[in-house]
Amino acid sequence: MPDDSLPKKTYGFSTRMSHAGRAGTRIHGFVNPAVHRGSTVLFPNSAARRDAAKHRLEQYMTYGTQGGPTHYALEDVIAEIEGGTRALILGTGLAAVAVPLLAWLKSGDHCLMPDSVYGPARNLCDGLLKGWGVETTYYDPTVDEAAMAALIRPNTKVVYTESPGSHTFELQDIPAIARAAHASGAKVMMDNTWGIHHFRPFEKGVDVSIQALTKYVGGHSDVLLGSATVNNEEDWRVLRSAASQLGQYASPDDCWLALRGVRTMAVRLKQQERHGLEVARWLSGRPEVLRVLHPALPEHPQHDLFRRDFSGACSLFGLVFQPRFALEDVYRFIDALTLFGIGASWGGFESLCIATTGNITRTAGSGDFGGPMCRIHIGLEEPADLIADLAQALARLG
Ligand SMILES: *Cc1c(COP(=O)(O)O)cnc(C)c1O
Repeated sequence: MPDDSLPKKTYGFSTRMSHAGRAGTRIHGFVNPAVHRGSTVLFPNSAARRDAAKHRLEQYMTYGTQGGPTHYALEDVIAEIEGGTRALILGTGLAAVAVPLLAWLKSGDHCLMPDSVYGPARNLCDGLLKGWGVETTYYDPTVDEAAMAALIRPNTKVVYTESPGSHTFELQDIPAIARAAHASGAKVMMDNTWGIHHFRPFEKGVDVSIQALTKYVGGHSDVLLGSATVNNEEDWRVLRSAASQLGQYASPDDCWLALRGVRTMAVRLKQQERHGLEVARWLSGRPEVLRVLHPALPEHPQHDLFRRDFSGACSLFGLVFQPRFALEDVYRFIDALTLFGIGASWGGFESLCIATTGNITRTAGSGDFGGPMCRIHIGLEEPADLIADLAQALARLG
């Protein structure tokens, strides 16, 4: 009979993904937890209800908005993936970006954001947060410790990171950035969606790690979810309290889909990493291509950080075309592809390609990466088929 308690930290990733989050969920002997839908939670008597309210911030079921058994099973799995003490499931990846920022920033505070941050996070800083009197400075994502220290002001409360950056894939020296941030008492947040389990945020100095579970955890392009994970009780209280004040909630049906996705994630990730690299290497040898932006390729400018800090890669990377091509040529290339969908998001079983030039905002850097760009996500298809498709589309560029 398998032991349902939290798996040993020494087990390999695949083993932990098979067993995490199953404690207390076995009902009538079935392997998986049920979908617990609910608003009202009933108590045996008034005293029990009164005492439950005292534990409102604990993992304790008092009302549907505080989550139920399906949420808690997924929260345990995500905490296991991230290596933190506790995870909070939120309705989207963007909600998982927004809630920690709202939890730790107030009027008069200063926030540091990498110039390569996920676009909608920039929108929040330049929109609501700015209106509420929170100032944001965008910084070169490749800063070292001294440069980060120089950016920090007495009122800097959050140093946000995302490594690699959205669309342009710069890696950040997270331990160095975290040292500078912690020296002045700022919280370090990281969007760890690309790194998933390959980057261990809490071992590198991160305080709040964010994941868009919509991507590889869901894995099937049919669910939107996010998570914010912390590594101590005090941070948990701040995070949980902010989510409660904001009425944040995720559907238990979506949590169930994510739990289903996570059981096969290790297999998918391995295949997608290998196939992604095969396609990326092939593309880097093509005359139409100036650069492939993939942290696991030795020619990536911060490949040394990849080797130091990551145990593997996912299957999302960028492509810079030769400067003789225009954005219109990139559109022609993408429209000629037959196996790649044209759409946002990534991490599903299917390959995708979108133009990124014209789609990204850079204010700390020039935003010029040498030529027009696109972003490629490799799904679970055969690499030979994908390469043949890319070859016929590149041939049209002339
Ligand atoms: C997609 C994405 C998000 C947001 O996830 P949603 O569930 O689509 O809101 C956040 N960060 C990164 C890096 C992403 O790619």
